Amino acid sequence: MAVKAPRGTHDVLPSDSYKWRYVEETADRICRSAGYKEIRFPTFEETELFQRGVGDTTDIVQKEMYTFTDKGERSLTLRPEGTASAVRLCVENGLLTGALPVKAYYKITAFRYEKPQQGRYREFNQFGMELYGASAPTADAEMISLAEDFIKSLGIKGAKLRINSIGCPECRKGYHKALQEYFSQYKEELCETCNTRLERNPMRILDCKSPICKNITKNAPIITDFLCDDCRAHYEELKALLDNCGTTYEEDPGIVRGLDYYTRTVFELIHDKTGLALLAGGRYDGLVKEIDGKMDVPGIGFASGLERLVSVMEEEGLSFGEEPTTDLYIASIGENALRFSSALARKLRNCGINVETDIMARSLKAQMKYADKIAAKYSVVIGDSETENGEAELKNMLNGERSKVKLDESLAIIIRKG
Ligand code: AMP
Repeated sequence: MAVKAPRGTHDVLPSDSYKWRYVEETADRICRSAGYKEIRFPTFEETELFQRGVGDTTDIVQKEMYTFTDKGERSLTLRPEGTASAVRLCVENGLLTGALPVKAYYKITAFRYEKPQQGRYREFNQFGMELYGASAPTADAEMISLAEDFIKSLGIKGAKLRINSIGCPECRKGYHKALQEYFSQYKEELCETCNTRLERNPMRILDCKSPICKNITKNAPIITDFLCDDCRAHYEELKALLDNCGTTYEEDPGIVRGLDYYTRTVFELIHDKTGLALLAGGRYDGLVKEIDGKMDVPGIGFASGLERLVSVMEEEGLSFGEEPTTDLYIASIGENALRFSSALARKLRNCGINVETDIMARSLKAQMKYADKIAAKYSVVIGDSETENGEAELKNMLNGERSKVKLDESLAIIIRKG
């Protein structure tokens, strides 16, 4: 039997890749507009980075990581997300000891062993933005605005912003106690993993995916009732800033996010129709210290899943910009013309024109059929007399108009003018 792509992965076909590029270029543009620079980091990291960074009581670390031992007996893990690696990159390269803030973004593939379903893959693409060094709510408001502008720039309208504050380790002490008391009543019904979380990190029970745990969670105490004065003031100021720049949001005390590193602000942009999170993020003030061991630098960021964006945009019939096309197809008759055509194609490509020519030694009829199929904007047919005169008829494939042209670089100018 033929080998198939592994479960939970997907291919991007030539007819669709421009859509991905469009989304990625929109992300680049948003980042450039606010001074964020791209970073790139390895696909795999030492497993410990994610155990410490993402948190060893999270679903990701407990159930979803692709971890392997390499030939040198090292435990490595395919990145399940980008934030921990981005922090590791900044720490290891001394970026956080220089001028702050540091503004970074990435476009990565991430890997999670999850149950594949609509909008959920085992290998998926994420675009993420990260900001280090700024703890004031203005930084949170800017990050949330950029996230919203990214989604809006793609033309997606039906996305709702939900925000919450999950406080700092201080306010969580009281909250953990309240959660332990509440969930202890349901010990028998909670799943096995949640039972282990009950002792170590009861907040993680709030985003368990098991339907029974989800149901029990509905009446659990909410974090906002336990915020300390500083965290409450931070949250109130963030809401005032969002109101001030006309951002509409819903407060949702149920958002706790599936990663341990978050503090204070957390947010999600949820697509109305599908209920999928198009993007999610928050503040992670303790993460740098967790990874570096010394430096204590605040951070905030978000990540967005490109599979979900592309599929929502397709469903809503949104534009992905222009699909790249072939400007000119050069058809040839005979060996001399074939040689001449391939040299001409190269010259014109170097002038920035998209050119295709025959590389299959096909009949003229078959070549013209191909030119139609690829929707070339113009075509020329070159035979012996055209090679001798250095002139041919350029055909506009859309309206059928023909004009005499020279078979040299000047053709690029004519085609570019349209
Ligand atoms: P997270 O890193 O879990 O906060 O997720 C951030 C964003 O990545 C989500 O809002 C989704 O858009 C996307 N995402 C997370 N997990 C998956 C997955 N398994 N498949 C596709 N997209 C995902």
